[in-house]
Amino acid sequence: MSLGVFHDILSEYFQKEGIKFIPSSVGENFIMCQCMNPQHNDKNPSMSINTDNGDGYCFTCGYEVTLTDFIGECHELSNGAIEALELKATKNRIESLNEDYEEDYQEPIKFTLPKVFRKFNNTSYRGISPEILTKTGVYLSANEYHENKDFRYRVMFPYYQQGKLVGYEGRVLDNRKPKYLRAAGVDTKQVIYPYALIAEKFVPTLFVVEGVMDCLSLWELGYPAICNFGTEYNYGVNKLDMLSEMVGSLVVAFDNDEAGQRKGKILEKKLGNNMLVKNINTTYIGRQFVKSGVNDWNDFLNSQ
Ligand SMILES: [Zn+2]
Repeated sequence: MSLGVFHDILSEYFQKEGIKFIPSSVGENFIMCQCMNPQHNDKNPSMSINTDNGDGYCFTCGYEVTLTDFIGECHELSNGAIEALELKATKNRIESLNEDYEEDYQEPIKFTLPKVFRKFNNTSYRGISPEILTKTGVYLSANEYHENKDFRYRVMFPYYQQGKLVGYEGRVLDNRKPKYLRAAGVDTKQVIYPYALIAEKFVPTLFVVEGVMDCLSLWELGYPAICNFGTEYNYGVNKLDMLSEMVGSLVVAFDNDEAGQRKGKILEKKLGNNMLVKNINTTYIGRQFVKSGVNDWNDFLNSQ
C-alpha cells in the first residue's frame, strides 16, 4: 500500500500556499485540506482531495476542484507538465470506474416463471390487499405449478425490473423449511423490489426493510419501501444510481430485534456514504413500530 500518486505534489502545494491540511495515512487515497472556495472561510480542513486523480470536494459547501484547476498557478509548471498531470488524473479516474464496474458486473441470468399459475382472486394475504398483490405480480405456486419441487406450495414474489423478470422468491404456505426460498443466481445487488411500485413517481422518502413481506406490509400502510434482501449491504453501482434518480432519502427500518437494529445502524452508515439516509426512529411510523414491540412490519400491519 502506498499513498496516492498525487499525494506529494498536493502536500507540497499546501505547504507553499499556507493551506491547512491533514497528511494521509498509508493506504488512504484522499487528503483533507482547507476548502479552496474563496467564499468559504473554512476553519477546519473540510475538503477531501482524491490523491489518485486530484479531484476535490468540500463536505461543507459542496465546492469542487480538479488538480489542474489550482496546481499549475503556483508551481510554474510548463503546459506540457500540466497536460501530463491531467492525463494521469484522467487515466486513474477511468481505472477506478472500471474497477467499480467489474466488481459490479455479473453475467445476467434469464429467469422464467411457470406458464400456468394461480392468481390471488380478490383475496388478501397476511393483511396485504389484492391491489398490492396484483401490482407486484404475487401468485400462488400450488403443487403442480413449479418444476422445482422446493418451490411448490409457496406464495411467489417475482422481482420485475423495467418490465423484466430478474428473480423471484417463495414463502411457504405450510411449515416446511426454509420459510423463504430465492431462485438460484439472483443478483440482489442489482434488484430493486418492488420496482413497479416505486417507479410510478419520485419518492421523497423510501423505507429500506429486510424482506419482501416487510416491504409489501409498509406499502399497505401507505409507506413506500424497498426490500434489502436480508440485513447485509446489497447495493451495486447501477442500483445506487437508479435509486438516486428515483428517491430523495432512505430510512433504514429493519426488524424490531437486537440484530435488526444493530445491522440497520451499520447499513445506515454504509448507505450514508452514497445516499442521504435518515433514521427510522425520527419518523412517526418508525416510533410507532419500535414502541409496538412486534418483531417485523407484517406483524405490525396485522396488529393495527
Ligand atoms: Zn467549502
